Amino acid sequence: MKEELKSSSFALRRLGEIEGESYFTPQFMNAALDTARFHAASAGATFKTLVGAVILDSIAKSSQDPNRGNIKSPTEIAENNTLPQISAVAGNEDEIATFYKTHIREQFAKGRSALICVPTTENGNALFEKISKGLEDKVFIFNGEIKKKEIIKNWRMAADPKHTVAVISTGAFLCLHRRDWGAVIVADEGSTHWISVGRPRIDFRQFARCLAARNFCELILCGFVLSAKTYSGVQSEEIAKRNPFRFRYQNGVAVEIWDMKKNKTQKKSAPFKVIGDELEKSIRDTWSSKGNMFILTARKGSFPYTICRDCGRPVLCGKCSSQLVLYSGVKEKDRRYVCHRCGSIYDTKLRCRTCNSWNLVPLGIGALRVAESIKGLMPELPVFVLDADTAPTKSKARKIIKDFFSSPGSVLVGTKAACAYIDRPLDYSAVASIDSLFSIPNYGINEEIFRTIFNLKELAEKKFIIQTRNPDSVAIKHAISGNAADFMSEELKFRKQFKYPPYFTLIKISFKHKSESAAKSAVEKASTMFNPDRAVVYKSFIGYIKGFHIYNALLKIPAVNWPDDRFVAILKSFPPSFNIEINPENIA
Ligand SMILES: [Zn+2]
Ligand SMILES: [Zn+2]
Repeated sequence: MKEELKSSSFALRRLGEIEGESYFTPQFMNAALDTARFHAASAGATFKTLVGAVILDSIAKSSQDPNRGNIKSPTEIAENNTLPQISAVAGNEDEIATFYKTHIREQFAKGRSALICVPTTENGNALFEKISKGLEDKVFIFNGEIKKKEIIKNWRMAADPKHTVAVISTGAFLCLHRRDWGAVIVADEGSTHWISVGRPRIDFRQFARCLAARNFCELILCGFVLSAKTYSGVQSEEIAKRNPFRFRYQNGVAVEIWDMKKNKTQKKSAPFKVIGDELEKSIRDTWSSKGNMFILTARKGSFPYTICRDCGRPVLCGKCSSQLVLYSGVKEKDRRYVCHRCGSIYDTKLRCRTCNSWNLVPLGIGALRVAESIKGLMPELPVFVLDADTAPTKSKARKIIKDFFSSPGSVLVGTKAACAYIDRPLDYSAVASIDSLFSIPNYGINEEIFRTIFNLKELAEKKFIIQTRNPDSVAIKHAISGNAADFMSEELKFRKQFKYPPYFTLIKISFKHKSESAAKSAVEKASTMFNPDRAVVYKSFIGYIKGFHIYNALLKIPAVNWPDDRFVAILKSFPPSFNIEINPENIA
């Protein structure tokens, strides 16, 4: 807590210095303040999230506004400008790349530059490769993985007001000093990777929106499947459709649904099949045709949960009460239970905490269990596993992907984290297990499941296979048929009915304390400060972690009323021991 205070006052001091030097444009500074207000976060901390350390230390300090003395204030700009309507583009990778290329050239012809915001380094690199051909000296890329020296060199060229540029950048480099932005483009707008890591939790798409508004330039939201928020904007005609705008995709690939309820093994004594018949057929064909295949699982480890056969309760971690994951090793002595939340490890002599029974049944389909089952079926087939265990770093993940694609006739098994690295089509793509995700306390989980399956199906060239107990769920049904329009309209109805974004803004206030009653009363007191609105107080689903009890208060207010100055002021008055999130990814 102390450290955070220190770092935020540090950022504030820095902010003051920089304002004095006025390296950043007034449009950028105002957009940063708008973003801070939206997230009820301090200006200093928000600024620090939006300006990479390299820029702050090596460029902003030693440079001055290249256009100094020749600038218009935002009010001057406002007087002779109207804000263009926000627009959206939906299409596959190639269609979108074509759109970018055409649009960038249009901006150049008008003497304007284009800023393309990307959620991840992976997105940025793929995009750079697609659109920079023929425009090499005018397209620049920035992200946290590029070496400092190169960033500094490219930054100066990209900021040079003598020529127009297109810039592809992740969150911390959107502060590039230019006054000629003609368009701010949000690429892969539906991605789940837009929220900054750490506090405050800033949604960079929100910043892009503010930056476009402050520059009076176009905001264009692009993606294969756009976010539910953008679809609702298109529905209400607040957002204009551009060309291409596709709701349906039919790549003509064969789809096989393996209903795990219907295909349950008849004989009770027969072991449960992790790999259904359809999946097995495709794995065998991958091997014999020297092809490649990706299989998604919802969880890492072997058995994501274990229940007690005597009392029926799940086996929980003694320290943090979350479900334990069983890792089955090759040898019995390697078998162990791991808690993914707090990292505790237990041996397999573990007993049920409720009834002390040793009769525990491991359940669920984790990545490791799928990989082991494939090895059991076909020991000669190379199987790669990509999840948080095998690839704790990006470079490890990229290495696994490289090895996988250079081994014809191999299978990659991975969690959702793996999907971001698969950058080319596959012969087969499949879902071995996804059902456990439906129980995650996140209002957006259906959208996430829909998007994951939709993307995965698009990658397959021969066949897409899905194993599930919920083939008729809205997310799975529409993802398989490639119909974003029907999914989004059902999803948006649900969001409206239960007062979720994009119709309502959620404000989550959390507090943790060693004493449960202290945690509860602190949050209860906080919840009464929004008169006449009142936040709902509940014990966090996480409940108890590392000796702390967590309580939340959740407030829902109509999205049109946000940000509300009175509420922002109240939220900012809370001490930093309260954690505040606007539109949190989950309400647990
Ligand atoms: Zn029990
Ligand atoms: Zn634990």
